[in-house]
Amino acid sequence: MDKTSVSQKRIVVLTGAGVSAESGVRTFRDNNGLWEDHAVEDVATPGAWRKNAGLVWRFYQARRRQLLEVKPNDAHIALARLQANVEHFTLITQNVDDLHERGGCTEVHHMHGQLRTLRCEASGQSEVRMDGLDLTDEFLTCTCCEQPSRLRPDIVWFGEMPMKMAEIYDAVEACDLFIVVGSSGHVYPAANLVHIANQNGANTVLVNLEHPINSEAFEEVHIGKAGEVLPSLVEKLIAK
Ligand code: NAD
Repeated sequence: MDKTSVSQKRIVVLTGAGVSAESGVRTFRDNNGLWEDHAVEDVATPGAWRKNAGLVWRFYQARRRQLLEVKPNDAHIALARLQANVEHFTLITQNVDDLHERGGCTEVHHMHGQLRTLRCEASGQSEVRMDGLDLTDEFLTCTCCEQPSRLRPDIVWFGEMPMKMAEIYDAVEACDLFIVVGSSGHVYPAANLVHIANQNGANTVLVNLEHPINSEAFEEVHIGKAGEVLPSLVEKLIAK
């Protein structure tokens, strides 16, 4: 890494399901390609919603209720500490949980949507719906339309366009340091961001429990649990 102080570098962090694993939120790829015992095509595609909206709804309502039971772990807290100590910091997450925000990070780019919000099927508007009555298995309707419409999970399903891609590409193309935490490298376009960072001359760092399929794209690889590796990595970065 060059000698510019880390506080002045443009740092972009991309997180995946692994950063929330130590909070008790199950990852997807670690479980033989099943997510909470469901095949992805049965619960996380537009076709699944058309075919069996009840199953998809109950799946996401269970994930939404789980948010009330889980807490940020040391990895989420370390990233908030990094954000607080550098001038230019962008956090991109593939995660749909809210553990980065609750760990202290602000302005999180949720490229695959969020569990806390639901989206009106008619207008496309999102609203935060986390009150008790919003968390049952009954379908809900929006507050934005004159004739209330059904709400869907505010999630980017497989086959849909990820959110905030223009801002994400701008941040990755301009960064000096790109750090990926807890991502298997299977889901695109997120898995391609490290190549964009490399092409633009950034230093690239990976923290993951095991070697993911794109680990050779990174200059520096730390194998271990995010909650154990990240706190000391962040302290070293801040001290530079
Ligand atoms: P993934 O499940 O495909 O891969 C997770 C990676 O994290 C694996 O390589 C695994 O080895 C690693 N890992 C597991 N525990 C770890 C730990 N303690 N520390 C560091 N690394 C650890 O996840 P992905 O690449 O994010 O892609 C899966 C898709 O599923 C995403 O699009 C995401 O939206 C969705 N998903 C989200 C959540 C969530 O919001 N928490 C949970 C499951 C799946």
